[in-house]
Amino acid sequence: MATSKPHVLIIPYPAQGHVIPIMELAQCLVKHGIKVTFITTEATHKLVTSNGLDQDGLGDLMQMVSIPDGLEPWEDRNDVCKLTRSILQTMPGKLEQLIMMINKEESNKITCVIADGCMGWAVGVVKKMGIRSAAFWSASVATLASIFCFQKLIDDRIINENGIPLNGQMIQLSETLPPMKPENLGWTSFEDVATIEVIFKLLIGAEEAYRMTEWFLCNSTTELEPEAFSLYPDLLPIGPLLASNRLANQAGHFWKEDPSCLAWLDQKPERSVIYIAFGSFTIFNQTQFKELALGLELSNQPFLWVVRPGLTNESTTAAFLDGFMDRIGSRGRIVSWAPQQKVLAHPSVACFMSHCGWNSTLEGVTNGLPFLCWPYFTDQFYNETYICDVWKAGLGFKKDENGIITRGEVKDKVEQLLGDKTFRDKAVVIKEKVTSSVREGGCSHHNLSSFIKWIHEEDQGSVG
Ligand code: UDP
Repeated sequence: MATSKPHVLIIPYPAQGHVIPIMELAQCLVKHGIKVTFITTEATHKLVTSNGLDQDGLGDLMQMVSIPDGLEPWEDRNDVCKLTRSILQTMPGKLEQLIMMINKEESNKITCVIADGCMGWAVGVVKKMGIRSAAFWSASVATLASIFCFQKLIDDRIINENGIPLNGQMIQLSETLPPMKPENLGWTSFEDVATIEVIFKLLIGAEEAYRMTEWFLCNSTTELEPEAFSLYPDLLPIGPLLASNRLANQAGHFWKEDPSCLAWLDQKPERSVIYIAFGSFTIFNQTQFKELALGLELSNQPFLWVVRPGLTNESTTAAFLDGFMDRIGSRGRIVSWAPQQKVLAHPSVACFMSHCGWNSTLEGVTNGLPFLCWPYFTDQFYNETYICDVWKAGLGFKKDENGIITRGEVKDKVEQLLGDKTFRDKAVVIKEKVTSSVREGGCSHHNLSSFIKWIHEEDQGSVG
């Protein structure tokens, strides 16, 4: 018996930068009449629902379901080593149990599972259960290429079997990809060996998923990374997946957006504001935080700055920030979480000072903005290479002898970027290419349509 509607189960890695884009994919499927069960960990579920996302906002076709990540409620989920170990140990069994429970109801059976590439183990679980699957990659394809090359990196003695770099030799993944420092591989930027090893193990799961799934969807476009896509022609670009399909605006966000900054932006001249945001993980020590603030003060430019809870130690910077904002007045605005995609699309924004997370990178290029790059960890350094050296749409910062980006450096780079029109011109060219890819007739649009068609066809063929 054919099931009444295709029913897709989607499972992201439980981090903000993973949940947002795959939620976008989920909402896209819903728009095409596909039922979606979106699986998060209990901790993530609590975060997204406490920020105003309720079942009503998602509509009838989508439901959010949670399973445990294996940690106790009070344990620190920013400890990626502990969290990832626990996920690998606990979640495969929990996922299998959940699917078995859902599948008891014949008309509601799961017809396909889409696993985040960083949850590649899920593909193994569902394959064993006879369910078809696809993988979704939320970072750049160049980063994925560095993971897929892991065996070659081991054979060339650049990393050991556990992913630890063996020397400082620059890595040339292929003749066409930009060179990379070994410490900038997606798993090597962590400080301790245990974390590097467990993240390496997690990422190798993406390579296993690649070999097992029929579809490996990527939140990127061929226009942005033609060389990386030509190395792996069966990777399918469907991006950039942006919030245009949203039924529920804030779906998947871990913090509550402060929309008041949009009205503040309305008051500012066109292309005048520096938007500063470092995503969901970045942490600043007190010295660096103050230097950035003082650099913004020196720049004399309007700015909108996201100071997320946990970005820095609030108890030690609160008094400093009070005095700072007294001096800045209405020239600057600090929010704890911005409606970033709307901010980046606002005509008052001149540039994006970013940690270069892949979502932020896509959101910036889609709006034709030049970047000031301030990478923090993992793939962000390679994304900076693309922004500055490949697309030539941004500038990086130089650290001083103490490893600090000084206020003077901040001021200089702001002036350099805003004073040279070529950065924006380059960014606008990229924007045109990227946006045409997701429009009817574009490559990403075509791939996503084919995938959606496959989900519907597969359902017609499925037997209960
Ligand atoms: N974001 C947001 N408001 C903010 C800061 C970030 O909505 O104030 C969103 C941003 O639009 C992006 C995501 O959070 O979609 C961050 O993902 P990214 O890959 O850039 O960085 P990560 O958090 O994974 O380091």
